[in-house]
Amino acid sequence: MDAPSDNKPTANHLSPKLTVRLCKDKAGQGVFAVEPVEAGEVVAVWGGRIVPEDIAAALPPNLRRYVVQVEDDQYLAPLDRVDPAELVNHCCLPNCGLRGQITLVALRRIEPGEEITFDYATTDSSPFLEFDCACVKKPCRNRVSMNDWQRDEVQAVNRGHFSPYLQRRIDKAEQAEEKARPSPRSQRG
Ligand SMILES: [Zn+2]
Repeated sequence: MDAPSDNKPTANHLSPKLTVRLCKDKAGQGVFAVEPVEAGEVVAVWGGRIVPEDIAAALPPNLRRYVVQVEDDQYLAPLDRVDPAELVNHCCLPNCGLRGQITLVALRRIEPGEEITFDYATTDSSPFLEFDCACVKKPCRNRVSMNDWQRDEVQAVNRGHFSPYLQRRIDKAEQAEEKARPSPRSQRG
């Protein structure tokens, strides 16, 4: 979908160091660096409207693919058109990650020409947001599924950069694991 060319204010922020371009190895567009981006720098902040699952899942495919899950049953959906900041593609080995629910920051320094990506499993955990991945990065998961936030390798790459509602689930699972582990003090020889 073309980026808006009129002068209407957009619902999103995209760093002026980035631009939208056609992807060589994928169908469609992506966001690319035109200047170096430092680790921790904000690359995008998403806006839109907040809708529950039934409304998000019923959106036409050209809008639904840009939905970002922000809570267990709340979704950030694009307005009636897609803004450049929404065109950031998924990658299984991303160079950006979330800070909070709607802000994307660089995980490392990004050089000009690099595509801006994040792991959609750090925001999305709903069946209607699953998709087949062809990001060509090793190891590509081939399918990005609703339970990928539980995977060790996803947590390792994106530690500290999950949407808060998913971070709460991760913390809860870790606490349960901790409780289940026998305490060293109770293991007396
Ligand atoms: Zn992949």
